[in-house]
Amino acid sequence: MAFLDELTKKAKDIAGAAAEKAKDLAEVAAEKAKDASDNAKLKVAILSEEREIEKNCKAIGEWFVSEYEGEIPDAVKDVVDAINASKARIAELKASKEALEEAEKAAEDPELKTCPVCGAVSNSKFCPDCGAPMDAQE
Ligand SMILES: [Zn+2]
Repeated sequence: MAFLDELTKKAKDIAGAAAEKAKDLAEVAAEKAKDASDNAKLKVAILSEEREIEKNCKAIGEWFVSEYEGEIPDAVKDVVDAINASKARIAELKASKEALEEAEKAAEDPELKTCPVCGAVSNSKFCPDCGAPMDAQE
């Protein structure tokens, strides 16, 4: 019976060791998950602070471009010029977009006419903006 006892004890030891190992693995996994979540949290916190900086730098830039009075320092002159060039380009693009939308609107509704004087679009006999006869173009 000593042999059987020995065997049982061995089996118990092995099972115990396996259980212990599984527990260790679970702990390691939990630790890793915690690290990962801490890591993710830190990453998010860093990104959030970086976004704050960007937002505040943008506010400084916007203030500078629109409010700064006096000569623009050389260090940022090119940047300010580039911003102003972009603003001018946006104004042009918006005008083109509006013209395109007006034209599309006119194309959709054959009743709509474009005022030959001011370019307003309307389906009335006379231009609602300048009063010119809308039929004059035909
Ligand atoms: Zn008109």
